[in-house]
Amino acid sequence: MAASKTKQCKQCKKNRSERFFRSPKARYCSTCLKANRSRATHDRRVSETYGLEPGEYAVLFAAQGGKCAICKESRRERLSVDHDHKTGLVRMLACRRCNNYLLAKGARDRPEVLRAAADALENPPALRILGERYHIDFKDSR
Ligand SMILES: [Zn+2]
Ligand SMILES: [Zn+2]
Repeated sequence: MAASKTKQCKQCKKNRSERFFRSPKARYCSTCLKANRSRATHDRRVSETYGLEPGEYAVLFAAQGGKCAICKESRRERLSVDHDHKTGLVRMLACRRCNNYLLAKGARDRPEVLRAAADALENPPALRILGERYHIDFKDSR
């Protein structure tokens, strides 16, 4: 059985079967082409919406170690460009959870709300006032 011919992609450097290349002259494999197109589209969208220069999302992403600036977790989907909703200032890349729920819906750009949230988690008012009370589902598991 003849092994299928492979060719090295100039971008990912993988040796891939020829069927992953659009033509015999193609330098990049179809996976890389698709990723490049999607990156270019994203770069354009980010520059139109947030005023980042092409490639700046990638610079910021790399500087943040590919992680959300808040929860420090990495996500499969792209991180959101967080911006100040009054001034438009770009602040960080954050995952959708942190950006949408924590910053936009919850704190609505007020850092004092986030500080209060941290204080309330570390020093719960209900514990202080009522003593230990437990959510009913957790009663038996204690
Ligand atoms: Zn490739
Ligand atoms: Zn996050």
